[in-house]
Amino acid sequence: MKTYQCDIVVVGAGPGGSMAAKFCAQGGLDTILIEKKAEIGAPLRCAEGVSKKWLAEVGIEPDPTWIRGDMKGAIIKSPQGTEFRLDESKAGSEVGYVLERHLFDKALARDAAEAGAKIMLRTSATGVIRGADGNVCGIRGRSMGEEIEIRAKAVVAADGYESQVGRWAGIDTTLKLSDIDSCIQYRMCNIDVEPDFCEFVIGSVAPGGYVWIFPKGKGIANVGIGVMGSKCSKGADAKYYLDKFIAEDPRLSKGQCLEIMGGFVSTCPGLDCAVDDNVILVGDAARIIDPITGGGICHACRTGMYAGKVLTECAKKNDFSKDALMPYEKMWRDKMEDKLFRNWMAKEKLATLDDEVIDSIIKMIKGSDIKEVNVYNLLKVIKQRYPQVVEGFEDLI
Ligand SMILES: Cc1cc2nc3c(=O)[nH]c(=O)nc-3n(C[C@H](O)[C@H](O)[C@H](O)COP(=O)(O)OP(=O)(O)OC[C@H]3O[C@@H](n4cnc5c(N)ncnc54)[C@H](O)[C@@H]3O)c2cc1C
Repeated sequence: MKTYQCDIVVVGAGPGGSMAAKFCAQGGLDTILIEKKAEIGAPLRCAEGVSKKWLAEVGIEPDPTWIRGDMKGAIIKSPQGTEFRLDESKAGSEVGYVLERHLFDKALARDAAEAGAKIMLRTSATGVIRGADGNVCGIRGRSMGEEIEIRAKAVVAADGYESQVGRWAGIDTTLKLSDIDSCIQYRMCNIDVEPDFCEFVIGSVAPGGYVWIFPKGKGIANVGIGVMGSKCSKGADAKYYLDKFIAEDPRLSKGQCLEIMGGFVSTCPGLDCAVDDNVILVGDAARIIDPITGGGICHACRTGMYAGKVLTECAKKNDFSKDALMPYEKMWRDKMEDKLFRNWMAKEKLATLDDEVIDSIIKMIKGSDIKEVNVYNLLKVIKQRYPQVVEGFEDLI
């Protein structure tokens, strides 16, 4: 069996893993980034929508190679058809680019490689290795069909929603059914949607979640749905709701599918603790993803960067214990914990509202003088008329 030795092994070359690898390598750490697939960023499992504001914060320069569309704004719709239309000046924090995600992920991996990380494709982690003290000291895996070991001072689990590394390391990553959205998306062509507005439809069309239409130009769009796991029943799953929505929307009903993909997103407010001795979980593996929008690219990039910075500091003292890694916990919690919790509560409440209430909330928001639309400001407006919707987390609004 071939054995590799490094400072840090990062499992998963999604945005979280590539950012972690880049910042570890920039910090002078000998870093190996492994990815089980043969191609980074493919197959697609994403609606490809991101806001713009966080990119500078994590040092990512917008690049036309991975920007498919620069959105002018967003439309939020009720099942009754009431529309709240936001231009970019108002929708800035929630809407921005529609990506070519496969190119975006590759660009981040390239940045990691440029910083000095070694990338190994078709290399799956299959377990963790523990040292004599019982602590994790690397991973076992299969690379190009061969058994391997990668011994490291710390392991970054960036292995996404299905993360196993955290579980192997003894961290509880289980989710309640109501904290899972089951998603399906069609890349549709021959449809008639606005070319530079992202559309979100909430209510009974997508119980506990929403339908999205994210344009990709030339009559093409990602048309998808997320449905709360606890609201899926036999015969009425995400596909059932999406097909029904498409059939009833004359802009989409004559469309054709170029690509189908399914996946899951977690909609909880993050793990209780995303570190242990010699192990850090980032992005979806740490369940750090916006519970209301299901947007996780930005969270993965941020947490990957934080992990890389903290590991660089740990290396200076050669201490990768849980205590030494706790600054990572503080960093992501300081930045995101309140928002994740607030949006998780909002998601729970929204899932209980019927279409009439949703329709009147959208009408009310339309009539408000909201300056910038983000989940926080929307909840502030909702709080005035529908205090029951924000019951239990009013202090965070
Ligand atoms: C249907 C859908 C639509 C979405 N739409 C959006 C959106 O529009 N905007 C947004 O911001 N977010 C969206 N998300 C969420 C977003 O895709 C994730 O939050 C983001 O990809 C998380 O990045 P990550 O690096 O943590 O994990 P991932 O991007 O999932 O990367 C994990 C990587 O680890 C690899 N891996 C897994 N196990 C192993 C192993 N054992 N060994 C080696 N490699 C392994 C995987 O192959 C994968 O490449 C969507 C998710 C879904 C499912």
